Amino acid sequence: MELCARFRTLLADADGLYDPADHNDRLLLGLHGMMSEAGLHVLKERMCRGKLNKARRGELLGTPPIGYIRLPSGEWAIDPDEQVRATVHLVFDEFDRQGTLQGLLRHLASHKIRIPVRPTSGANRGNLEWRRPNRMTLQNLLHHPTYAGAYRYGHRPVDSRRKRPGRPGTGKRNRRPEECLVLIRDRHPAYITWGRFEANRDRLEANRARQDRPGAPRQGSSLLAGLIRCGLCGRRMLVQYSGAKDRLSYRCTRGSGDYAEPQCQCLSGLFLDGFIRDQILSAVAPAALEASLSAVAEVERERSDLSRQWRLRLERASYEAERSARQYQACEPENRLVGRELERRWEESLTLQKQVELEHERWQRSTPGRLSADDERAIRSLAADLPSVWHAATTTPVEGKKIARLLIESISVSVDKASERVEVEVHWAGGLVQTHTLNRPVGRYDQRSEYPRLVSRLRVLCEGRLSPVEIAERLNAEGFVPPKRVDRFSGPMVWRLASRLGLKWRERHGSPEGLGQDEYRPKSLALRLDVGRDTIRWWVRAGYITTRKDEQGHHVIWADEAELQRLRDLHRLLGTRVAEGLADLKRPKPRPEQ
Ligand SMILES: [Zn+2]
Repeated sequence: MELCARFRTLLADADGLYDPADHNDRLLLGLHGMMSEAGLHVLKERMCRGKLNKARRGELLGTPPIGYIRLPSGEWAIDPDEQVRATVHLVFDEFDRQGTLQGLLRHLASHKIRIPVRPTSGANRGNLEWRRPNRMTLQNLLHHPTYAGAYRYGHRPVDSRRKRPGRPGTGKRNRRPEECLVLIRDRHPAYITWGRFEANRDRLEANRARQDRPGAPRQGSSLLAGLIRCGLCGRRMLVQYSGAKDRLSYRCTRGSGDYAEPQCQCLSGLFLDGFIRDQILSAVAPAALEASLSAVAEVERERSDLSRQWRLRLERASYEAERSARQYQACEPENRLVGRELERRWEESLTLQKQVELEHERWQRSTPGRLSADDERAIRSLAADLPSVWHAATTTPVEGKKIARLLIESISVSVDKASERVEVEVHWAGGLVQTHTLNRPVGRYDQRSEYPRLVSRLRVLCEGRLSPVEIAERLNAEGFVPPKRVDRFSGPMVWRLASRLGLKWRERHGSPEGLGQDEYRPKSLALRLDVGRDTIRWWVRAGYITTRKDEQGHHVIWADEAELQRLRDLHRLLGTRVAEGLADLKRPKPRPEQ
């Protein structure tokens, strides 16, 4: 109006002519604007109410989902095509077996099963098209309450704050059926029950890894990933794979990562997995007989599902071939223009039919139709012998994890850092809580609670003029266990431990190496100082230590307690690259004359 007034332009509507430069006309135009704004609002409100009322009666129906068609009356009905129905049923059945969307997608893709779609526009509108399954389609199918017979309206309301300019589809948020404006149960014919729909939805929800739930099982070899919690701080523990894939450990790192706290605790994974696996196997043993009965039925049901899919595909291919033959024959032979195209289509459908038949033959060869008596017996005996199934090479870690998640809700572990003790609390599904105290494998002798007893025992045995092998046998017989997942002591292990502790049992044993007081071989000095043997060789070459050569020309090193301390300091200083005081530490103390 301002612009029109400035350029002396007149405005007109059905009622008259206005000059925006004139005060009275301008007032009138403003009033007209306000009235029409109010009228627009009332109109809009009335139309929305009408739409909602129609939805409340369950009559506002849009495009039907896959597996449904729209009748002329506007109602949705289950697709009359048998193959379409079988495919939708197969998707739901297979999701029950696989448990994850990705698993379902992989299964459908590997068996070349296609999804029936009736396009709503284009040349092929309303006719069946068979398309490759994709993640989004399957996800929508599993989340759609219509398959359980329910009608919903307002499940994707637009949130204008989330709308982005230029992108018409944005700003929509998905609502659960219960939160929709309208939800009418048993409104449409159903493929599945409401209970099954809810179970599928819960399962998809549980597959998402969040702080309070483990998520879908992953490919890693650990059994307890996602289930294990720290007994000290209550946070979820992480799995760490190192080196080879089967070397895993559980670590509580959230505190150190988020708050720079010291590392909470960590634990060898193999040992804990093994323990829990045994617990699970003993828990399910009573159900083995029942499992063996249902296993055969399950295998047969899966096969019959697949063979039904094949039968329907073959039928469709042969129908298409016959139809194009009929079309070709109905065409006048003189009408070459149309005849050529129909002939090409007939040939195409015959090739397609041949291809489906060949693929079917290949499938039949790889999977015989019925189980043979031997197969059946094998399945029954395997189901009754769960441990061997569990350890079989074909059993994947994902399957182990699936079983663990069915039975166990969570596991909490508390490591006693001063000893090898671990408290393991198993929270079974159903509420039972069992507590176990285990001995974890540790890396060092002094992490074991029996270490002081072991040292004093070793000291006594060394004085008894025994060889290392004899001492090892004694220790084994008395029930001492070495660290690092080894069950028994061996001679070299005893020798190394005694050298590190500085026990001089060799001299009492007739000093076979001809060593005097405070004398060491490079190897035993390396053990005593806990440094590498190359470091000792380097020190010998550089003249940092006092050495002599024996009759065979081997180095013998002399070092008393002060010298040992000097060498320890030297090693520490070399590691830090600090030059100050290094020269003094490099100078060996002269050996006193004997
Ligand atoms: Zn912790």
